[in-house]
Amino acid sequence: MSKSLAEAATCAVFNPFDGSIVGDVLLATAADVPQIMVRAEQGRALARALPRYRRAQILETAAALVQSRSEHFACQITAEAGKTIRQARKEVTRCINTLKLSAEEAKRGAGEVIPFDAYAGSENRMGWFTREPLGIILAITPFNDPLNLVAHKLGPAIAAGNAVILKPSELAPLSALSLVDVLIEAGLPTEVVTPVVGGPDLGAALVAMRSIRMISFTGGFKTGEAISRLAGLKKLAMDLGGNAPVIVMADAALDKAVEACVSGAFWAAGQNCIGTQRILIERPIYDAFRAAFVAQTSALRAGNPQDEATDVGPMITEAAARGVEALVARAMAAGARLLTGHKRDGGLYVPTVLEAVPHDAALWCQEAFAPVVTLEPFDSFDDAIEMANAVDFSLHAGIFTSSLVLALEATNRIEAGGVMVNDSSDYRFDAMPFGGFKYGSLGREGVRFAYEDMTQPRVVCINR
Ligand code: NAD
Repeated sequence: MSKSLAEAATCAVFNPFDGSIVGDVLLATAADVPQIMVRAEQGRALARALPRYRRAQILETAAALVQSRSEHFACQITAEAGKTIRQARKEVTRCINTLKLSAEEAKRGAGEVIPFDAYAGSENRMGWFTREPLGIILAITPFNDPLNLVAHKLGPAIAAGNAVILKPSELAPLSALSLVDVLIEAGLPTEVVTPVVGGPDLGAALVAMRSIRMISFTGGFKTGEAISRLAGLKKLAMDLGGNAPVIVMADAALDKAVEACVSGAFWAAGQNCIGTQRILIERPIYDAFRAAFVAQTSALRAGNPQDEATDVGPMITEAAARGVEALVARAMAAGARLLTGHKRDGGLYVPTVLEAVPHDAALWCQEAFAPVVTLEPFDSFDDAIEMANAVDFSLHAGIFTSSLVLALEATNRIEAGGVMVNDSSDYRFDAMPFGGFKYGSLGREGVRFAYEDMTQPRVVCINR
């Protein structure tokens, strides 16, 4: 934007662990929207004029630049989002892959020949359809994967020849802004991506703009609903929340199941849309699973995310940590039993395990998005499937079993966008289709799928 820091309001970005200021960014408001739209229109023309090989080169170069600065990016993620440094490094590696996949996609998916002669009457026609950019895409992203979730929107959008207005979370915008800088350094015309930092007022004002053709949103259900109410006639991609179940059958490899579920529950301090929230365990192995799970959870080191030895960092804000503390307290007042954890120090909430959580407690049926997990025994496979499906969230699920028959049965009957066999719910590969079943989930990320969503077919038909 043309404003200088001196003219515009700025917004401090805080380190969730110690409250120190780690950055200062220009804050846009609804009043800036006309200027943002003018620039995005310029970007639209520039983006569609880029030949596919240039889009691919830019994305490949950006991937190489992120690679060469990977430790800087990892430290930035840790500083602004509180992810542990080891987890942040994994996110950087995934971002590099997402950009490389996007570079590949820029060279594919150009369209198809249409078989006009497949039905009588059109045999004298020939033609094809091309995949054309949509124009301007509004990308709105959350705080929890502040780099790779941004790459999942910018990469496919650029590959498809679109301009993007990017509104990252105001709580953790620095990694997103650095990624935009890298794309520009790699040769992207500056107007193609317009990054803007602001809160819900800015988001809402942008959402209503008629010349935006698509909103690609990742965040919570309530925000998704607010966006869809305001959006009008636009394409919507909605990647929303989760409350993932994992089923552990008695024939599972117990050690592997415990280890994967501990990681799945507490990765990124549980602030993970596919994080494991409910573990359903067949009764004969319940006691053994619980003992091992509680022992491994208690051994996790919660603390400074910059410390290489830390397993669990802080939540994004102290308010978020207070929120989960209250959620757990309410479940305990309703009869849930605490097995370990439930201690808070500022924004740090110690990994927490409960059992006997009532099924009408918010901790069971809502998204916790926090380092807390519930254990629940079951007697039959049918009961486990019913419990897995009982909540209104459906992003990912997992099952541990050595029976191929049961594994396949589970993949067929669990209502989720992804069912992981012998893995926790927390597995994602950046090239796979990613999104939820059930209420609210629209579209799929995973580069090829987002690329398709971000294009529109144009038919050419020749009458011979
Ligand atoms: P959030 O919904 O509070 O905010 C997400 C983004 O929306 C932010 O940039 C925010 O500023 C913006 N926003 C808020 N109100 C808006 C409005 N009225 N109009 C337009 N934009 C608005 O989510 P969060 O707390 O940042 O992230 C956590 C949520 O994101 C969880 O529910 C989590 O499950 C979900 N999530 C989903 C995925 C996925 O891929 N499915 C991935 C990560 C996180």
